[in-house]
Amino acid sequence: MSKKLNGTVIVTYRCNAKCTMCNRYKEPSKPEEEISLETIRKLPEMYFTNITGGEPFIREDLKDIVRELYKKSDRIVISTNGFFTDRIVDLCREFPQIGIRISIEGLEHTNNEIRGLEDGFNRGYTTLKTLVDMGMKDVGFGMTVQDKNAPDLVPLYDISDELGMEFATASLHNSFYFVESNNIIKDRLMVAGNFEKLINKLLDSNSPKKWFRAYFNHGLINYIFSQKRLLQCDMSFDTFFIDPYGDVMPCNGTKEKEVMGNLNVQNWDELWNSEQANEVRKKVRCCNRNCWMIGSVSPAMHKYIWVPALWVIKHKFLRFFKKKKYSMYENKIVRDYRDGKVTKEELDKCSTCENCSARKS
Ligand code: SF4
Ligand code: SF4
Repeated sequence: MSKKLNGTVIVTYRCNAKCTMCNRYKEPSKPEEEISLETIRKLPEMYFTNITGGEPFIREDLKDIVRELYKKSDRIVISTNGFFTDRIVDLCREFPQIGIRISIEGLEHTNNEIRGLEDGFNRGYTTLKTLVDMGMKDVGFGMTVQDKNAPDLVPLYDISDELGMEFATASLHNSFYFVESNNIIKDRLMVAGNFEKLINKLLDSNSPKKWFRAYFNHGLINYIFSQKRLLQCDMSFDTFFIDPYGDVMPCNGTKEKEVMGNLNVQNWDELWNSEQANEVRKKVRCCNRNCWMIGSVSPAMHKYIWVPALWVIKHKFLRFFKKKKYSMYENKIVRDYRDGKVTKEELDKCSTCENCSARKS
């Protein structure tokens, strides 16, 4: 039996929101060209599937897609902006084991400003509360941290904690997937300072899962200072993305769309073992974009578990025996930046933002 994979299915590029950092809504897919049940049936066995978009709940046949995916996936999580409460609740009634991650980009005013959705915060929050009240177990927030919403990071975590929910973070990234590539953190020390507060809260908790999330957030500080990824990226080896057009890709972080094959016209084994797929894998091995998004980091954290585990042990030890908290200045690059040894312009040039980057890939 072949190894189970980790897959992300982008069911649509249509979206009802207009997020400042994404722009996907500017290039939506057409309903008639979006991935069909027939193509979904060709996907391989997976230990984890993320359904995302665009806004996945725009698809009226999402329940059929989920039903099909449960035939081949051990666990499914849907990422959504939470706006379509009734549709989400309806789907969760049929699939109470499903995971739902609602992206909330800050407290009410900030969220609505970033998302471009009137009443977006209240809609998202109402959906979350309704799911918790229904007894759904795998429900959580997701937040993409940027200058504008960084001060809301810890307050939002506190809300999620009170509700007993997962709290997933990301930082601004650039990729073909977001249509435009102008995302960059401007005040790195301020944003990192808010991550530092969150990391300390997570390390204070009694939950090993949260300690590992602290490591993930430590990696985000490393990322916003344009440093090398803390863990090797193995996307396309045991992980894949498939887009609404049936194109299979390694990830959602590349500058240009990298295609391993098309599942509308190929079968899985032919596609996965093709020369084209191997060419993409060679590019992944030399990729220097250093993304730190949960889709590529979570599989790496499981695979190279000893790296985050040692970090967690060290920080729990320092906390417990030396009363020493995590400091963002334990990252050499943050100290160098504070001490003027490296400038903002130099860091900007190493980023993936096309307006300020010197990189070619
Ligand atoms: S981030 Fe999500 S909700 Fe916002 S525009 Fe992009 S796809 Fe839509
Ligand atoms: S670092 Fe990994 S996830 Fe990011 S673009 Fe490269 S291959 Fe994709």
